[in-house]
Amino acid sequence: ERSELNSYRGKTSQTLDGVRVELAANIGNPDDAKKALEYDAEGIGLFRTEFLFMDRNTAPSENEQFEAYKSVALIMGGKPVIIRTLDIGGDKEIPYMNIEKDENPFLGYRAVRLCLDRKDDIYKPQLRALLRASAFGNIKIMIPFITGVDEFRAAKAAVLEAMKELDLEGIKYNRGIEIGVMMETAAASIMADVIAKEADFFSIGTNDLTQYTLAVDRGNTKISYLYSTYNPAVLRSIRNIIYAGKNAGISVGMCGEAAADPKMVPLLLAWGLDEFSMSASSILKTRKAVMGYDTALLKEIADKALSFATEEEVRHYLEGIC
Ligand code: PEP
Ligand code: MG
Repeated sequence: ERSELNSYRGKTSQTLDGVRVELAANIGNPDDAKKALEYDAEGIGLFRTEFLFMDRNTAPSENEQFEAYKSVALIMGGKPVIIRTLDIGGDKEIPYMNIEKDENPFLGYRAVRLCLDRKDDIYKPQLRALLRASAFGNIKIMIPFITGVDEFRAAKAAVLEAMKELDLEGIKYNRGIEIGVMMETAAASIMADVIAKEADFFSIGTNDLTQYTLAVDRGNTKISYLYSTYNPAVLRSIRNIIYAGKNAGISVGMCGEAAADPKMVPLLLAWGLDEFSMSASSILKTRKAVMGYDTALLKEIADKALSFATEEEVRHYLEGIC
């Protein structure tokens, strides 16, 4: 089966009737980027920068971060590289940061909330490092855990501040760097049309979107039977985000686990998802899946899937055809 998948290396990721998509990789460090290329990734759709902060006793300096981001940009040689700003808190703890434990970590002080609160010691150094690295490749910045356009504006203002500092210091960066929103909360999905007007791109984080739409802790095994992207509420939310992005003329990707789920792929293609980001080892199998569909069939599958009222019916239907 491996060698069969190998025949999909170098092929264009497009449907039978020529609709192109980008198949990208999720990474946690520069070494993963090399692996991503070995699996024929067309870009990096999610660099989880938390990993640079883990398994150590102090935060990585601006320079250390700069070297890591720059090396990914260079490894990818001009292919798009979406780097997510620090997404700690919730399930991702970093002991040396001395962050008080919340009673409800998933609904608490985390990600962009924490970064905006600790601009000087945490956010600014990361943004400066990202901007400096943007001179060496096709880097885009992604802001996680956005719940409204005000937070996104505040994050963009922080990027502008970092740009002004670099200007004063005569340091080069990409002035036109794209800044996008990770769409992973129910509020962001409901406000997707409004947020789309101010974002350069969307990337849907289905791992959290599912949790925050269904009120189901993504790590709680007692209720894991409720945690499913086939839930019609999650499907409608995903479709809403894609349509809102497309309406505003921005690119919409997905970097949650659902992007590599063969049962989700036809729905995502039907709704017009532009970029699918996943663990590198799933890229060739997903390319094979994409290349087997045409638009008419996709539309039929997506319409049918959305006609069901329950998760079980949707899952049953998709299992029958994928
Ligand atoms: C997501 O939430 O879907 C996602 C890709 O990010 P993470 O799993 O790191 O929260
Ligand atoms: Mg997430």
